[in-house]
Amino acid sequence: MTAPDVTSSPPPAATEHFDVLIVGAGISGVGGAYHLLHQRPGARFVILEALDSFGGTWWMHRYPGIRSDSDLHTFGYRFKPWRGTPIATAEEILRYMGEVIEENGIAQHIRYNHRISAARWSRADNLWTIEATNTETGEAKRFTAGFLWMCQGYYRHAEGYTPEWPGMERYQGRIVHPQTWPEDLDYKGKHVLVIGSGATAATLIPAIAGDCAHVTMLQRSPTYFIPGRNRNDLAETLRELQIDETWIHEIVRRKILHDQALFTKRAQEEPEAVKRELLGMVRAYLGDEFDMETHFTPHYRPWQQRLAFVPDGDIFKGIRSGKASVVTDEVDTFTEQGIRTKSGQELEADIIITATGFNMSVLGDIGFEIDGKPMNFADTITYRGMMFTGIPNMLWVFGYFRASWTLRADLLADFVCRLLAHMEQKGAKRVEVRLRPEDAGMTLLPWIDPDNFNPGYLMRAMELLPKRGDKREWQHTQDYWREKDEIPAIDLDGPEFVYA
Ligand SMILES: Cc1cc2nc3c(=O)[nH]c(=O)nc-3n(C[C@H](O)[C@H](O)[C@H](O)COP(=O)(O)OP(=O)(O)OC[C@H]3O[C@@H](n4cnc5c(N)ncnc54)[C@H](O)[C@@H]3O)c2cc1C
Repeated sequence: MTAPDVTSSPPPAATEHFDVLIVGAGISGVGGAYHLLHQRPGARFVILEALDSFGGTWWMHRYPGIRSDSDLHTFGYRFKPWRGTPIATAEEILRYMGEVIEENGIAQHIRYNHRISAARWSRADNLWTIEATNTETGEAKRFTAGFLWMCQGYYRHAEGYTPEWPGMERYQGRIVHPQTWPEDLDYKGKHVLVIGSGATAATLIPAIAGDCAHVTMLQRSPTYFIPGRNRNDLAETLRELQIDETWIHEIVRRKILHDQALFTKRAQEEPEAVKRELLGMVRAYLGDEFDMETHFTPHYRPWQQRLAFVPDGDIFKGIRSGKASVVTDEVDTFTEQGIRTKSGQELEADIIITATGFNMSVLGDIGFEIDGKPMNFADTITYRGMMFTGIPNMLWVFGYFRASWTLRADLLADFVCRLLAHMEQKGAKRVEVRLRPEDAGMTLLPWIDPDNFNPGYLMRAMELLPKRGDKREWQHTQDYWREKDEIPAIDLDGPEFVYA
């Protein structure tokens, strides 16, 4: 990755300095700000955000029905009770985040419309220099910071991933990616074809099916879903007992995490039984006549991708009612009227929605330099999926996929605050990770084990991501249940940390 040319912009008027610079005002960045304010009072920090508001994922995505696919008791922050239904709309998540910002005076620390293009580390000064552009005025901005907290998410916000299919140019209808949903899209009374069957398709289809003439979901291969009621009985019972919301939040989180741990263990130990149960839940909505084998029996094992929760089985109800249908086949070519599949089916549509996923964005598409040399992220080795060899004073929040992302954002925020306190105590200005003597000759592997987790956007970007080692310390294990104890217990004076 090379640093983009920023020399063509007018020179920045003045450089502002902060102890900590947070990239991104999504759920991770706003959470980071909360923890800094509470655990490092007095630290000077700023959040630079490319968009014109907070929320990241939840601000960007505007397609009908947009909602979380995991529960908000655990996707919500540990410090702020979630009072709504477990599965929440983007609007509800934004409201919740807005309250966190308001209640903690975080707004004054956020600079919106600030897109960062370059980050340069100088060992001589133990400082990051950050080049940003004000996207409203075009003004170049320069910041320096002691610590860089990367909360930029993992995918490119400007555009989603759409494969190149033959014949796309001759299709007469409209092609839309859910990530860039046009406000003027009129789907009322239209035939709509959705390519893909992940969480996005499962959310979108029931939200539009009632208004469309018909919605067809075209999937290459089936996905696992968990249908269920969008309410948490334990939370409701505790509320009836007038238990304090802070307690309810903590108890319900523990219960959900306990149940998820059991489920993941079972999914690994007895995948066939778990698979049967999951398919049974779907069959209960679709009826015995439905061809489950072709359309809802995935080829992977139940823990290899996130399981999408389907509130009240809404997509299955749409299929049963005839408003929606599923085709399991591959795109051969686009035609003037729609799509011809590899098995020769002609699927006509006025609108084709490509719910085909994300483009991975590695480090927010920021050009990194370390001591004057362009940094290639793929040449680094990750320390627990959060720090990287050869990159001082930087941490990346890359959350969990099987558990809620925010669980890790909270855990890593505690870690950053502890690390900053430790550096202050030692009088250190620099911290970096390096392999320990016992790690010499360690086998280096791709960022994630495809047998453990294998969504398409990660597989497509694997060569851009850091390497992992064959020991837990040098991996993003995706295992919240061990990390919740391991990360707080990390010995900051261990041999993997080098201070100066
Ligand atoms: C539709 C959808 C549903 C999801 N549902 C769930 C769910 O239910 N549960 C779950 O655990 N996960 C879910 N995820 C994953 C989700 O992305 C994360 O859980 C979480 O919201 C990510 O938060 P974040 O703050 O880390 O990153 P983002 O939400 O991606 O926010 C990053 C922010 O950084 C900013 N940024 C990036 N680069 C730059 C730059 N160069 N300069 C300045 N600013 C920059 C972006 O503009 C953005 O605002 C979902 C993802 C999608 C797309």
